[in-house]
Amino acid sequence: MANFKTHVVVAGVVGAGTAYVMITSGVINFSTGIEITFLTMLGGLLPDVDAGNSRINRMVFVWLICLLDGIYLITELHTLSTKTAYGAAIIAGGIVLSRVGFNNFTVHRGIYHSIPVAIASACLIGLILHDNFVAINLSYSILAIFMGFIIHLLLDELYSINIAGMRLKKSFGTALKFRSSELIPTVLAYMVALISLIMVYVQL
Ligand SMILES: [Zn+2]
Repeated sequence: MANFKTHVVVAGVVGAGTAYVMITSGVINFSTGIEITFLTMLGGLLPDVDAGNSRINRMVFVWLICLLDGIYLITELHTLSTKTAYGAAIIAGGIVLSRVGFNNFTVHRGIYHSIPVAIASACLIGLILHDNFVAINLSYSILAIFMGFIIHLLLDELYSINIAGMRLKKSFGTALKFRSSELIPTVLAYMVALISLIMVYVQL
């Protein structure tokens, strides 16, 4: 299994390389190139959100606390009191609890390391970004996140091959796959992928 640093660096290099080729051939401008690079890196980190002890898992939930508490405090700024502090603490506690729930519910290298989840994540995050930051190009952001996600799955598979002895580690085939061993997560993943593709189609 490739580590956090490998995932960031490889996704960053491929993202920046793709952006460079597209900028020099006049397809996109410089700022879209920066977006593509960062979104490829984001996509390259996403799959390991299912690993309870991973850095991206911690980061996602810490960002969520900062973001939601930040929005809450800004909207409640005029009535700053101990009640506001309790509110912020409840939000943070809720997110910590959902992290525990999420980590108990998900299996590392389960359905989250799969093609349908790559499609669903890329479409949903692309839509959220495009809705909030109009400058972000929907198609390019989806493609960049999807590319990063697939790079992650490929890297995980590559690290499952013991090059020296040409033997396959047990983890081979658990990253780049179309379904998990369980039916319900697989069906759910395909449903979300389909719905998110329709949402993108409507927006385009
Ligand atoms: Zn992984």
